[in-house]
Amino acid sequence: MQPTTPPAGHRDETPAARREWTTRHAVQATARRTAALVNALVDKAPSADTVTEVLREHGEDGPIELSADDLAELRSAALRLREVFAADDTDRAAETLNRLLRSTAGTLRLTSHDGASPWHPHLDSADDAPWGEWFLASSSLSLLVLLWNHQRPPGGVCASPACRNVYLTLGSGPPRRYCSRRCATRERVAAYRRARG
Ligand SMILES: [Zn+2]
Repeated sequence: MQPTTPPAGHRDETPAARREWTTRHAVQATARRTAALVNALVDKAPSADTVTEVLREHGEDGPIELSADDLAELRSAALRLREVFAADDTDRAAETLNRLLRSTAGTLRLTSHDGASPWHPHLDSADDAPWGEWFLASSSLSLLVLLWNHQRPPGGVCASPACRNVYLTLGSGPPRRYCSRRCATRERVAAYRRARG
């Protein structure tokens, strides 16, 4: 099987650069971007700069111009995607995802953005679909694959009342309750203090 090769002009022959190029659109990378964007968009009115920064951190290298409408649509997509993370079990996560997938605008297709990226699936109506539509479609698709592969919810909501970020369950091992080591430590200290009275 021939591996995907960056086209001439985009090609950087170092193995690390090649690996980065071919995995940027892998399902885990897309799911990580989903969780980061949900957390950036859900809590308060997000600024275009913050959202742009998250998109850049997760490999978006095209032009990013976010209008107030774009931000509102991204935020509404984030609130709907958050329901998948908040689902109690695999069945509920699957039902929630099915509901989101029914509202996506496109049919499943592969695109390489005219050779600018490795081939990867899209579920929005066009490669230049609005940001909110793209976010809902690409995120639903990546969460679908994670649920399909692992037969468990693709993530959860941090159990710390002070946080409520979403996180992914990508590795194996015991189920996690917190988004980060920081939250786990804070809650452990709080429980210890409560126990001591
Ligand atoms: Zn947390």
